[in-house]
Amino acid sequence: MKLLLVEDDALLGDGVRAGLKQAGFAVDWVQDGLAAKLALTTEDYALLVLDLGLPKLSGMELLNFVRVKQTKLPVLILTARDTVADRVTGLNAGADDYLLKPFDLDELIARLNALLRRSVGQVDLTLQHGAVELTPASHQVRLAGKTISLSAREFSLLHTLLLHTGRVHSREQLEQHLYGWGEEVESNAIEVHVHHLRKKLGTDLIRTLRGVGYVIDKVA
Ligand code: CA
Repeated sequence: MKLLLVEDDALLGDGVRAGLKQAGFAVDWVQDGLAAKLALTTEDYALLVLDLGLPKLSGMELLNFVRVKQTKLPVLILTARDTVADRVTGLNAGADDYLLKPFDLDELIARLNALLRRSVGQVDLTLQHGAVELTPASHQVRLAGKTISLSAREFSLLHTLLLHTGRVHSREQLEQHLYGWGEEVESNAIEVHVHHLRKKLGTDLIRTLRGVGYVIDKVA
């Protein structure tokens, strides 16, 4: 699950990026409004985490840009301004949620997972497919009730496919979801992750469409 983090505070941005990566998100981090605008026009993100006070282009201007361009991208605002007026302005401008600084990283992760579920119309806390269950909040995967240990990227890949059952994802799309900028992607990385998932969860969960991509079929 790839998200764009826009935060000009280097210490905070670095900490949040590390925490979100550990939680299985692929994170692109930019530190000003213009870089964020460029990233949003060239990349495909599942989530936007946006600081309001930014150099070059303010978070609010960026939010307006996002809402004109991509109306469905879920946006969580980070703000240090604890006034009702600011929150109302942000939510009215199209933000889906907000967190006041300083915030707890676990709370940010929980809120982001909730936004992801809402953005695909998924309200259950656990995604279920046959005997496979995935719970984003606790980062857990179970097979027939038994907890299965997955790497962060295996988890993220499974999460992406389970959120959009029936939709075929190309290898390039999955790489985009799983890796942030500057992260080395081995040419067969996705194949390797899929191979591991099949070993752990069964061979018929993820279907390969040769030359096209991967899909988890909807449960009939
Ligand atoms: Ca700031």
